[in-house]
Amino acid sequence: MKKFAYPFLAISLGLSLGACSEQVTETDTLEQEQTAEANQVKTAAWSYEGGTGPENWGELDTSYSACTNGQEQSPINVEFSKIPAGNTTANTAIHYQATPFSLANNGHTIQANTTAKDNTLVIDGKKYELAQFHFHTPSEHQFNGQHYDMELHLVHKDAEEHLAVLGVMIQEGEKNEALSALWEALPSEKTHEDISIESPVPLQALLPKDQTSFQYNGSLTTPPCTEEVEWIVFEEPIQMSKEQIQDFQRIFPENHRPVQPLNKRDVLQAE
Ligand SMILES: [Zn+2]
Repeated sequence: MKKFAYPFLAISLGLSLGACSEQVTETDTLEQEQTAEANQVKTAAWSYEGGTGPENWGELDTSYSACTNGQEQSPINVEFSKIPAGNTTANTAIHYQATPFSLANNGHTIQANTTAKDNTLVIDGKKYELAQFHFHTPSEHQFNGQHYDMELHLVHKDAEEHLAVLGVMIQEGEKNEALSALWEALPSEKTHEDISIESPVPLQALLPKDQTSFQYNGSLTTPPCTEEVEWIVFEEPIQMSKEQIQDFQRIFPENHRPVQPLNKRDVLQAE
């Protein structure tokens, strides 16, 4: 139980938070353990279709109310012509290296978890560590109303559990060698224990060469749809082969949340 320092996120994202337990006080830990236990009983099941699908997430559980009432939800459609000119974006730096991961099928996606602390995303001087990455099909974000075949989400958190996610669009093309070790082990059924993958994933190879990106304030794209997530979505897609995309889609034919209203937010572009 100590592992889940932030129960909502731990349950919804399956984050491996063992690394940060030492940063919370004992009182916090106790409180969070109790909340975690309560949540494990109360948190409602959700899916991508029918009565438990995205249209109804907000009604499934009181802790999911942001899915309906939130004003800064993700994903969004990025309309290139509506990006305001001249606004300054956050300064970001990504420091990734080859890293070991373990693989899980959490019933909603395939997720690669790491306990390594050495992959960081720095946004305006604030340091976030990579905790996990996972996939959606089709893409969750849209560019000018269009989906890509898939989307990769690299989920980072800072010492206070704030989240920052890098979104990478995936289009059909060349085989993605950086993902081949993971793809050979894709768990087709829900896993109860992570599968450890021996060869490290060359993370840098999962990012596009051109790092022009869109930045905005959004949310988790799965219940509980928690807001105050920093989003950075790259414009240039990476590639996966048709076979790799089909391997994923055989397990999850469709696991994306529809785009949400932009409301009063600006999307900024960073070169
Ligand atoms: Zn995601």
